[in-house]
Amino acid sequence: MTKYDPRSLKADEFINDEEIRATLAYAEENRNNVELIDRILEKARPVKKGNGCTCAGLTHREASVLLACEIPEKIQRMYEIAEEIKLAFYGNRIVLFAPLYLSNYCVNGCLYCPYHMKNKHIARKKLTQEEVRAEVIALQDMGHKRLAIEAGEDPVNNPIEYILDCIRTIYDVHHKNGDIRRVNVNIAATTVENYRKLKDAGIGTYILFQETYHKESYLKLHPTGPKHDYDYHTEAMDRAMEGGIDDVGLGVLFGLELYKYEFAGLIMHAEHLEAVHGVGPHTISVPRVKKADDIDPEMFDNGIDDETFTKIAACIRLAVPYTGMIVSTRESEEVRKRLLQVGISQVSGASRTSVGGYTEPERPHDTEQFDVSDQRTLDEVVHWLMDTGHIPSFCTACYREGRTGDRFMSLCKNGQILNCCHPNALMTLAEYLEDYASPETKETGYKMIEEELKRIPSDKVREIATENINEIRSSNRRDFRF
Ligand code: SAM
Repeated sequence: MTKYDPRSLKADEFINDEEIRATLAYAEENRNNVELIDRILEKARPVKKGNGCTCAGLTHREASVLLACEIPEKIQRMYEIAEEIKLAFYGNRIVLFAPLYLSNYCVNGCLYCPYHMKNKHIARKKLTQEEVRAEVIALQDMGHKRLAIEAGEDPVNNPIEYILDCIRTIYDVHHKNGDIRRVNVNIAATTVENYRKLKDAGIGTYILFQETYHKESYLKLHPTGPKHDYDYHTEAMDRAMEGGIDDVGLGVLFGLELYKYEFAGLIMHAEHLEAVHGVGPHTISVPRVKKADDIDPEMFDNGIDDETFTKIAACIRLAVPYTGMIVSTRESEEVRKRLLQVGISQVSGASRTSVGGYTEPERPHDTEQFDVSDQRTLDEVVHWLMDTGHIPSFCTACYREGRTGDRFMSLCKNGQILNCCHPNALMTLAEYLEDYASPETKETGYKMIEEELKRIPSDKVREIATENINEIRSSNRRDFRF
């Protein structure tokens, strides 16, 4: 039997099955323990400190008690605190991005993914560098500044050199006033050496979903291919960090296994990164299994309803307050709206999950990874965010200014968010409004900017941000940042 050790570098020890089972039993025993629940909720609340705020976060055991609790007023309290935390650290800004599918060649056998090797009727496609350029131009023409590149695992068709070429091409495209300023990467687990190459290519976050933390299920769900190796996959973030990547993004594919098990595993993974590398995950994504080519989500028994999904998101927010949270267009407008209230800080917009999808006039389905629920245009998403009180942000300043890993957190703790992230969001929104927005979105946007500029505490910063926005409106100068 292996022993739980968050500091260990062995998958079975830091994601320890016995510890997860003990956690679930503890959570079940205490799910009506109001006194304990209140204490945990109190611990999760943000506390004022100097000009800023701090948050203690929760252990996987504490957070699991909240997730198990079914007392309506306590759940309501979780949602309120989740929103408090989100406003304290992320304000009303929502960062926008789009996925870019490079290749759907894949040698794995993942049972939930239509790119699995045995799928002989899905069209296989890999973008050439010319096609990458065309996709990037289409994305820039929508207004995107931040991409997440996606590829199947295939050492022959998609070797690391191909991914690196694509990253170079993406950063090299400057169409009209457009540019992609942050490329996040979602590719299969790889070696320290390859992570170092990705770091040197200037990537933002390295994203890798665990899919499931339940080892036995993991092995069944990934019956063939390199991804079958649970330990190699689970230890990938440690190799990424060893390779110099500070910002890593975790995620579980909800629906594959019991959500309480996954949740405990996810928080333990975050605790492990913090314990070993001194910095937790930069983001956590919460994808749910979707219908896709030869995939029917009903094949899996563990689908979760929207209410449970919202509760999971709120509990993640309470447990890891400084970690960004991402919801994709797998979810509908309605679900996304609900999740925005409990802690989501990033959303994708106008996504196409097919290889080469952005250059097609109609949404193609032949190479698609999964059905997209939210099919609105980026302009519609931007307008909707503003209508629901959020500032759509295209900011990429942090990592470009070297604020990666724990350096972003010190910004939160020192109360500098409103003097830094807030004006950056407004300046990048102004770029969007000037270069890409519809007249209605532009009108709403500038009204929002006028109001939001008033919230910048420092007179000096407010003055500079206002000047920069005027410059954006009257010239082609772009990319101002604090
Ligand atoms: N190939 C990479 C790997 O091995 O991790 C990741 C890229 S894959 C294009 C991105 C993610 O899509 C996967 O990690 C998985 O969680 C998710 N995904 C796969 N099939 C899905 C489906 N049917 N519905 C929703 N998400 C799915």
